Amino acid sequence: MSIMDDLMEGRIKLYEIERHVPVDEAVRIRREFIERTCGVKLEHVSNYSIDMERASRRNIENPIGVVQIPLGVAGPLRVRGEHADGEYYVPLATSEGALVASVNRGCSVITRAGGATVRVTGDSMTRAPVIRTGSVVEALQLREWIYENMDALREEAESTTRHGKLVKIDPIIVAGSYVYPRFVYTTGDSMGMNMVTIATERALEFLTRETGAHVIALSGNLCTDKKPAAVNLIEGRGKSITAEITVPGEMVESVLKTTPEAVVEVNTAKNLIGSAAAGSMGFNAHYANIIGAIFLATGQDEAHIVEGSLGVTIAEERKGDLYFAVNLPDVPLATIGGGTGLETASECLDIMGARGGGRVHAFAEIVGGAVLAGELSLMGALAAGHLARAHSELGRG
Ligand code: NAP
Repeated sequence: MSIMDDLMEGRIKLYEIERHVPVDEAVRIRREFIERTCGVKLEHVSNYSIDMERASRRNIENPIGVVQIPLGVAGPLRVRGEHADGEYYVPLATSEGALVASVNRGCSVITRAGGATVRVTGDSMTRAPVIRTGSVVEALQLREWIYENMDALREEAESTTRHGKLVKIDPIIVAGSYVYPRFVYTTGDSMGMNMVTIATERALEFLTRETGAHVIALSGNLCTDKKPAAVNLIEGRGKSITAEITVPGEMVESVLKTTPEAVVEVNTAKNLIGSAAAGSMGFNAHYANIIGAIFLATGQDEAHIVEGSLGVTIAEERKGDLYFAVNLPDVPLATIGGGTGLETASECLDIMGARGGGRVHAFAEIVGGAVLAGELSLMGALAAGHLARAHSELGRG
């Protein structure tokens, strides 16, 4: 009997194939099983060069191959950061025609205008469990206990990691008899979700031992992970990044084919008033486009694109020039851990000199500059009224 026969007849499960053969062989058999069962030919997902044996230990279960997303590059982009200071090329993985061209145009304007000033204004990764007590009074007592035992909780949490540091537990929200303490950490060059989850779990073991309170869930959604949330917009999560540029008026006219006044009006009417009317937390045109393309290229957790979509774009006319800024409070980023070690992700991080230890703030500044470029270009296109033409020329073949 072959493994395929065992699979077809349900004697072994899809996830058990690796127990019998090496990973690459297991991938081939599992793919063939899907081809037979679903009546499809998986010619392209079977072509890859990444080390699937390594990936199957850290990044993927039941692997059958690899999805290929076209990868483009925008730049050079002049970034004037505290950690990244120079000209960079930015890898963008996307299937949206016109996106790379648009970001590239923004890079060109920013670089000619002297470069984007970018700063990382906040650095935190969060986990907020939900804990049940018996009453409102007990919930408030537990909150007080957490304040009083902060040092002991920190010691427990930090015993699980070399790079994770518990900065604070704040806010601690009480709702009825439930308590939601938001554990806030710095996580070095990793994005940190595994790290802070393990650390918080250890701190909670201590808390339940000492207080008898009952942890309902390790995440009570005040974190807030992978969902748009006002707490992240206000408090920040991941890297908080802000970037600015002043574009001379004549450059706005010659390259963006519009005027500073028109860009300011589009920003006010669309990103500020329109977003407020929609109840949106993304007071911007398309941060998620640039964040998404960089995340897919560099092995970030793609579900965090939703967090990177938060933020406010600012446009002002200053003595005939255009002052333009982006503010991203919630960009979970890593240059170590997660998917960043996948071979294609590492190569893309290398393009920006952002692979490995000590590089995450430089990476964050380049990401901020790239979002500024993409936002400036789209806002310029909207102001000039040629968005639809760019899409029909570049996105429709
Ligand atoms: P990780 O790959 O689990 O951990 C990072 C590792 O790198 C740690 O073992 C850390 O050691 C080590 N490390 C070495 N040098 C480091 C440096 N310079 N800075 C920071 N760490 C360094 O990654 P993670 O960032 O904690 O978690 C990311 C993963 O979590 C992603 O795959 C994501 O998809 C997933 N995720 C998990 C959850 C969850 O609830 N568990 C939620 C969302 C996403 P030390 O810890 O000893 O410092």
